[in-house]
Amino acid sequence: MQFALDDTTLELHQGDITRLTVDAIVNAANSGLRGGGGVDGAIHRAGGPAIMAECRRIGGCPTGQAVVTGGGDLPARYVIHTVGPIWQGGGRGEPELLRSAYAASLLRAEELDVTSIAFPSISTGVYGYPIALACGIAVGTVIEHVQRGTALQHIIFCLFSAGDYAVYEKHLSNVARNP
Ligand code: ADP
Repeated sequence: MQFALDDTTLELHQGDITRLTVDAIVNAANSGLRGGGGVDGAIHRAGGPAIMAECRRIGGCPTGQAVVTGGGDLPARYVIHTVGPIWQGGGRGEPELLRSAYAASLLRAEELDVTSIAFPSISTGVYGYPIALACGIAVGTVIEHVQRGTALQHIIFCLFSAGDYAVYEKHLSNVARNP
């Protein structure tokens, strides 16, 4: 599914983010940038050791912020590593931190002067953020960013599971109907 917003196309894609040919992919990392399971593990496996070597040099990334490495062996030129919040019931600043993770990743992308970026569903795996709530924040933060003016022409939400894709599809079609 695609949705045109000003000069930018928002797209939903179901599958493995490491396979996408975009300028930058976003990693749902941990604050130590140590790699791990989920999308983080998949990115380091597919991208090879150069990404971890750069992560070690950077040292870490606080929750809600984002840092950049090269893409190693990935089709993407850059990986933007951001750290989403661990869900603790919603009253511990999780929504603001998740919004900040998306916003910080978009700012890094603007600094890199790239035109295409793909996001996984940050925090909704091991970190336990409910997908329906996280989806609203992800889409809302991206739309606000685009409406303020962007060099990004193509922004992909890459959902690994059919269930997550369906949640995003429903949300985005509501937004498209009632902008
Ligand atoms: P977090 O720790 O931020 O919750 P996870 O990696 O555990 O991060 O999960 C985030 C999302 O990434 C989940 O929806 C998971 O299904 C998804 N995911 C896992 N592997 C991939 C992949 N290769 N490409 C895209 N998304 C993935």
